[in-house]
Amino acid sequence: MILSIILSALLLQQPAAPQPAYDLILRGGHVVDAKNQISGLRDVAIKDGKIALVAEHIDASQALKSVSLKGLYVTPGLVDIHVHVYASTGESRSYAGDNSVWPDGFSFRTGVTTVADAGSSGYKNFEDFKEHVINRSRTRVLAFINIVGAGMRGPKFEDNLSDMDAAPAAEMAKKYPDVIVGIKTAHYSGPEWTPVENAVKAGTLANIPVMVDFGTNWPQRPIDVLLTQKLRPGDIYTHCYSGLRDELDGTGHVNKGMIEGRKRGVIFDVGHGGGSFAWRIAVPAIQQGFTPDSISSDLHIGSMNAGMKDMLNIMGKFLAMGLPVDDVIRWSTWNPAREIHHEELGNLSVGSPADIAVLSLEKGHFGFTDMYGARMDGTQRFECQLTIRNGKIVYDLNGLSRPDWKTLPKGYLEVGDPKWDSLNSRKK
Ligand SMILES: [Zn+2]
Repeated sequence: MILSIILSALLLQQPAAPQPAYDLILRGGHVVDAKNQISGLRDVAIKDGKIALVAEHIDASQALKSVSLKGLYVTPGLVDIHVHVYASTGESRSYAGDNSVWPDGFSFRTGVTTVADAGSSGYKNFEDFKEHVINRSRTRVLAFINIVGAGMRGPKFEDNLSDMDAAPAAEMAKKYPDVIVGIKTAHYSGPEWTPVENAVKAGTLANIPVMVDFGTNWPQRPIDVLLTQKLRPGDIYTHCYSGLRDELDGTGHVNKGMIEGRKRGVIFDVGHGGGSFAWRIAVPAIQQGFTPDSISSDLHIGSMNAGMKDMLNIMGKFLAMGLPVDDVIRWSTWNPAREIHHEELGNLSVGSPADIAVLSLEKGHFGFTDMYGARMDGTQRFECQLTIRNGKIVYDLNGLSRPDWKTLPKGYLEVGDPKWDSLNSRKK
């Protein structure tokens, strides 16, 4: 009797609708994935927040949702390894405070899905930064911690040689290996090597790279010694086109120390910021073949509305200097991901987190400005059309993934499916 009830219940049950193989398919875009040496038309399928398949044709019917991206670039979500986002403390004139910005206000609208804060916090306040910003952001926020225990809080703190201990900085980095990607030294105004040496010591103890903002230029502390003796292969020299520390020598040639440093494996990062990118340095350096390893913004309140603006604007500057689209995208995705030892990011390999930027390459008459307010004209500029974070659409400038409202039922409410969509804050 019981068995027959169960049997009839089973027989009455509607056969379950076949689950589509994928949550989301991005169709017909030009994929640029440096890690996998792809630059061409591909479809990209996403399932459960991960890249599931990249192929020349994936049938649209295999997904809950498919979006046509003809004429657009599809790249890994941009990885910006130099930002300041410790905005939560209320401290004025401090990068551990009001000089920082909140990451989600700037990231997704520019195709950025991962940022690394560059030393706004030190080992003494990193956990506060983590609790109040990192854990609450939809952007993936990683961090270089400052060799200064108190973090980037102005000269009184950043020039204090007695607060640059390697051991506690390394301990903190080892406590949070998934989040802390390196050690930062910055803004030091004295002639001593202590900040750099202690940062390298901490980086060696924790087996992570050091990022250097080389502070005030001193004859006792020349850039070639930094790059050929003090830094290790894999350490990062940021602000590489500032010209503030003899990046070009007196004859207008790239400093021999930079060329030697690069041969040794030192990394050269843009770190544009408010005061670290000049056309009169970048143009000759690039004409001499000294291209960057990575593009980063040095986003903070002083750079966001000045020459810098955002990652896409900086990428446009490199296009204006005549560099190819594929290189500019590699410098903004796969290269920075490798530099911070997060090789799961910055690529579209099957199994990688589905963090994706969809960019249009606008053609027209554009201008790009540097740290001094000098302009260079350009004819191409990237714009972010769509951003995907962990497989869900988090930004959609022109509603590429949305139905025309006139096709929807009267009184329609949220139209996306939470499996691929996070635009609607209200639950379906
Ligand atoms: Zn900075």
